[in-house]
Amino acid sequence: MLQGKVALVTGSTSGIGLGCAEALAAAGARVMLHGSRDAASAESLRADLAARHGVDVRYLQADAADGAAVRGLVEATSSAFGQLDILVNNAGIQHVAPIEEFPLEKWDQIIAINLSAVFHGSRAAIPGMKARGWGRIINIASAHSLVASPYKSAYVSAKHGVLGFTKTAALEVAQHGITVNAICPGYVLTPLVEKQIPDTARARGITEEQVKRDVLLAAQPTKEFATGEQIGDLAVFLSTDSGAAITGTALPMDGGWTAQ
Ligand code: NAD
Repeated sequence: MLQGKVALVTGSTSGIGLGCAEALAAAGARVMLHGSRDAASAESLRADLAARHGVDVRYLQADAADGAAVRGLVEATSSAFGQLDILVNNAGIQHVAPIEEFPLEKWDQIIAINLSAVFHGSRAAIPGMKARGWGRIINIASAHSLVASPYKSAYVSAKHGVLGFTKTAALEVAQHGITVNAICPGYVLTPLVEKQIPDTARARGITEEQVKRDVLLAAQPTKEFATGEQIGDLAVFLSTDSGAAITGTALPMDGGWTAQ
């Protein structure tokens, strides 16, 4: 389906990013994996993905909090494969705390990784996509691009920002065969969510089991977590020609959360 295409997925050594990389590779795209760990420790993951799907899979390390490093990552991907067709801006972090206690450096880090990296990656990718008259930018945003939750001020601000950026970018590149969309997952049981369970329990004074049942899945009428595989499949669909008319959108995959 995506033979001949090259995809870069940021933050793809775990969770949703890995789900997207897996689905894109399964659809025939060549894939650049990215993460914060060094190449040696990502090697078995890279080799496994390449072998199972029979496609060229590579890996680059870069700090998503550093704008120049993110632009460099996109440029290095284009040089390595000779093109970059699909950019999945996925890397993200979370921190849960009341505003008045929110660590200042965490605010800056979340805005840098969850929001500014989307700008830097897109800025570097758009010229090549325009030159070839085809491109897909898929931002892994969040249900928190559409609604808020307490104690997540930086994350909700960054994710609302990602949606604003998505709409703006979509308008700017609409006549160049490039689409820009935001996938807005509800809760997915990944390391990012698992890490925030103890913090949420502490902030609300409840147990970790209560956080899962009464906080996380309380918002999702299906009472099911979304999965990285489902999100990867939507990224693939957006990357096909059938997805060409979908641009500038927020696509919730949240089990009905934002319908309420
Ligand atoms: P995750 O922790 O498994 O993945 C995040 C990835 O980003 C990791 O691979 C991590 O290495 C990478 N990353 C973080 N900081 C980095 C840095 N400074 N430099 C390089 N890489 C860095 O979590 P996930 O849940 O798969 O999150 C992926 C995306 O999905 C995030 O943008 C997150 O906000 C979004 N999201 C997650 C959920 C959920 O419930 N899990 C819901 C909605 C949106």
